[in-house]
Amino acid sequence: MRKIDPPIIQDQLLLGFLQYSSKADAKAMKHRIPDIALRYDAYALCNGDPWNIAEDASYTPLKVVLNDLYKHPPSILSFIPSLRSGLDGACPVCGRDALGTLDHYLPKANYSEFSFYSINLIPACDRCNNKRSNSFKGGNVGERPMHPYFDYFANGKILSVRFEPDWTAPRLTPIPYNVTGKELTVVQWHIDNVLRRAGVDEYLTTMWGVLVNDVRTFLPDRSSLVTIKAEIHRYEMYEFKCGKSANGWRCAFWHGLNINDDALLFLQAL
Ligand SMILES: [Zn+2]
Repeated sequence: MRKIDPPIIQDQLLLGFLQYSSKADAKAMKHRIPDIALRYDAYALCNGDPWNIAEDASYTPLKVVLNDLYKHPPSILSFIPSLRSGLDGACPVCGRDALGTLDHYLPKANYSEFSFYSINLIPACDRCNNKRSNSFKGGNVGERPMHPYFDYFANGKILSVRFEPDWTAPRLTPIPYNVTGKELTVVQWHIDNVLRRAGVDEYLTTMWGVLVNDVRTFLPDRSSLVTIKAEIHRYEMYEFKCGKSANGWRCAFWHGLNINDDALLFLQAL
């Protein structure tokens, strides 16, 4: 869950160039280029919000062709591999410390006309990309994934972790932080349908286990809650710098732990 800058690509221009491509896939979709250009405009107007841009089944017959252009892009679309490998830090989609693939914000299975639209392609990790599958909208109005290019509220801290006893095997729950209204709806849906599917619960549990099993290494000075909190804050800041986001999984773990005195007292007593 990380806000990143959208790529600066002249999508409409590249789309127009496709009509001159000798590639069979480009020839097969050539007659729909003006329609797709209008769909790009519609997407840009609403920042890809699935509640404001309906699926269009008329592109279904071209789904394979459009997907092939994404998977095997002609030189006109050479920005695609660059976009896949051009980012470091935490995954913008889920917040795990990994990258390497591109996620279609509006899935290409439902919105194939956006298969190679740059602002629909988000650098992401393989885990959340695969597990989210084609889930792009909830059952209640406003429920959707966070859009890393357009949801500016993700520049701030929007993810924390709730720690609940018993402390030998605590319940760790990723939770929205400091968001309300429409933003809260988005973040909660995103946690439930993207982060949890990507395995955030197991990841947090492992972090707790590593900390407890080697607490003397990670928190050598446990003379007071003040010293423990200062150390944990340093870990959080380190992860913030490495992940380039306050909403990476590790960052959220340290943040949630640092505001739970009962959990800290348990660590102090070990
Ligand atoms: Zn991810």
